[in-house]
Amino acid sequence: MPYKSVPLFWRLKKPKYNLTGTKCTKCENVYFPPRNLCPACRRSGDIQELQLSGKGKILSYTIIRTPPEGFEHYVPYAVAIIRLDEGTNITGQVVGDIEKIRTGKRVRPVFRKMHEDGNDGLIHYGLKFELVD
Ligand SMILES: [Zn+2]
Repeated sequence: MPYKSVPLFWRLKKPKYNLTGTKCTKCENVYFPPRNLCPACRRSGDIQELQLSGKGKILSYTIIRTPPEGFEHYVPYAVAIIRLDEGTNITGQVVGDIEKIRTGKRVRPVFRKMHEDGNDGLIHYGLKFELVD
Protein backbone atom coordinates (compact mmCIF):
# COMPACT_ATOMS: atom_id res chain seq x y z
CA MET A 1 0.00 0.00 0.00
CA PRO A 2 1.12 3.55 -0.65
CA TYR A 3 0.87 4.61 2.96
CA LYS A 4 4.60 4.78 3.43
CA SER A 5 4.69 7.83 1.20
CA VAL A 6 1.83 9.64 2.92
CA PRO A 7 2.89 12.34 5.36
CA LEU A 8 2.13 11.51 8.97
CA PHE A 9 -0.25 14.45 9.16
CA TRP A 10 -2.65 12.83 6.71
CA ARG A 11 -2.47 9.44 8.29
CA LEU A 12 -3.47 10.85 11.66
CA LYS A 13 -6.13 13.15 10.39
CA LYS A 14 -8.09 10.86 8.12
CA PRO A 15 -9.26 7.29 8.46
CA LYS A 16 -7.77 4.92 5.92
CA TYR A 17 -10.96 4.43 4.00
CA ASN A 18 -11.55 8.10 3.49
CA LEU A 19 -10.68 9.09 -0.05
CA THR A 20 -9.02 12.37 0.65
CA GLY A 21 -6.60 13.69 -1.88
CA THR A 22 -5.13 17.06 -2.57
CA LYS A 23 -5.48 19.51 -5.39
CA CYS A 24 -3.13 22.24 -6.49
CA THR A 25 -5.34 25.24 -7.19
CA LYS A 26 -2.66 26.78 -9.38
CA CYS A 27 -2.23 24.03 -11.99
CA GLU A 28 -5.37 22.02 -11.05
CA ASN A 29 -3.46 18.75 -10.70
CA VAL A 30 -5.08 16.28 -8.31
CA TYR A 31 -3.01 13.95 -6.15
CA PHE A 32 -3.84 10.72 -4.38
CA PRO A 33 -2.33 9.82 -1.98
CA PRO A 34 -2.33 13.45 -0.86
CA ARG A 35 0.82 15.51 -1.21
CA ASN A 36 2.09 18.47 0.70
CA LEU A 37 3.85 19.90 -2.32
CA CYS A 38 2.78 20.11 -5.94
CA PRO A 39 5.57 18.53 -7.98
CA ALA A 40 4.64 20.68 -10.96
CA CYS A 41 4.48 24.07 -9.25
CA ARG A 42 6.84 23.46 -6.35
CA ARG A 43 6.88 26.37 -3.95
CA SER A 44 4.51 28.49 -6.00
CA GLY A 45 1.79 25.84 -5.85
CA ASP A 46 -1.23 26.03 -3.59
CA ILE A 47 -2.23 22.66 -2.18
CA GLN A 48 -5.70 22.15 -0.80
CA GLU A 49 -7.55 19.13 0.51
CA LEU A 50 -9.97 17.52 -1.93
CA GLN A 51 -12.56 14.87 -1.19
CA LEU A 52 -12.51 12.30 -3.99
CA SER A 53 -15.72 10.60 -5.07
CA GLY A 54 -14.04 7.26 -5.81
CA LYS A 55 -16.03 7.14 -9.04
CA GLY A 56 -14.24 6.75 -12.31
CA LYS A 57 -13.48 4.42 -15.15
CA ILE A 58 -11.12 1.57 -15.72
CA LEU A 59 -7.95 2.44 -17.60
CA SER A 60 -6.42 -1.01 -17.47
CA TYR A 61 -6.74 -4.15 -15.41
CA THR A 62 -5.25 -7.52 -14.59
CA ILE A 63 -7.20 -10.58 -13.52
CA ILE A 64 -5.22 -12.55 -10.99
CA ARG A 65 -5.79 -16.28 -11.11
CA THR A 66 -2.61 -17.43 -9.42
CA PRO A 67 -2.69 -15.82 -6.00
CA PRO A 68 0.10 -14.80 -3.69
CA GLU A 69 0.26 -16.84 -0.49
CA GLY A 70 -2.64 -16.00 1.79
CA PHE A 71 -4.93 -14.88 -1.03
CA GLU A 72 -5.98 -18.35 -2.22
CA HIS A 73 -9.60 -17.77 -1.18
CA TYR A 74 -9.93 -14.65 -3.26
CA VAL A 75 -9.04 -15.81 -6.78
CA PRO A 76 -9.84 -14.91 -9.36
CA TYR A 77 -9.73 -11.23 -8.56
CA ALA A 78 -9.12 -8.13 -10.58
CA VAL A 79 -6.76 -5.29 -9.92
CA ALA A 80 -7.35 -2.17 -11.98
CA ILE A 81 -5.92 1.25 -12.57
CA ILE A 82 -8.87 3.60 -12.29
CA ARG A 83 -9.07 7.11 -13.61
CA LEU A 84 -11.09 9.00 -11.02
CA ASP A 85 -13.52 11.65 -12.18
CA GLU A 86 -11.46 14.23 -10.31
CA GLY A 87 -8.57 13.50 -12.64
CA THR A 88 -6.11 11.29 -10.82
CA ASN A 89 -5.36 7.58 -11.03
CA ILE A 90 -5.78 5.04 -8.26
CA THR A 91 -4.99 1.33 -8.19
CA GLY A 92 -7.51 -0.92 -6.54
CA GLN A 93 -9.24 -4.26 -6.45
CA VAL A 94 -12.46 -4.64 -8.41
CA VAL A 95 -15.09 -6.86 -6.80
CA GLY A 96 -18.24 -8.42 -8.18
CA ASP A 97 -18.60 -10.11 -11.53
CA ILE A 98 -15.08 -9.53 -12.74
CA GLU A 99 -15.67 -11.45 -15.97
CA LYS A 100 -17.56 -8.33 -17.06
CA ILE A 101 -14.62 -6.07 -16.49
CA ARG A 102 -13.58 -4.02 -19.52
CA THR A 103 -11.40 -1.04 -20.17
CA GLY A 104 -13.52 2.10 -20.00
CA LYS A 105 -16.19 0.61 -17.68
CA ARG A 106 -17.31 2.81 -14.83
CA VAL A 107 -16.73 1.89 -11.21
CA ARG A 108 -17.80 3.17 -7.83
CA PRO A 109 -16.17 2.70 -4.43
CA VAL A 110 -17.21 0.07 -1.89
CA PHE A 111 -15.78 -0.51 1.54
CA ARG A 112 -15.17 -4.15 2.27
CA LYS A 113 -13.93 -5.95 5.32
CA MET A 114 -10.28 -6.82 4.82
CA HIS A 115 -9.49 -8.85 7.92
CA GLU A 116 -10.22 -9.13 11.60
CA ASP A 117 -7.51 -8.92 14.21
CA GLY A 118 -7.55 -11.94 16.46
CA ASN A 119 -6.47 -10.14 19.60
CA ASP A 120 -8.59 -7.05 19.86
CA GLY A 121 -11.38 -7.96 17.45
CA LEU A 122 -10.63 -4.88 15.43
CA ILE A 123 -12.17 -5.01 11.98
CA HIS A 124 -10.29 -3.37 9.17
CA TYR A 125 -12.02 -2.00 6.15
CA GLY A 126 -10.49 -1.30 2.85
CA LEU A 127 -11.46 0.53 -0.25
CA LYS A 128 -12.40 -1.56 -3.27
CA PHE A 129 -14.34 -0.87 -6.42
CA GLU A 130 -17.36 -2.40 -8.09
CA LEU A 131 -18.54 -2.17 -11.67
CA VAL A 132 -21.43 0.15 -12.46
CA ASP A 133 -23.76 -1.25 -15.09
ZN1 LIG B 1 0.53 22.77 -9.16
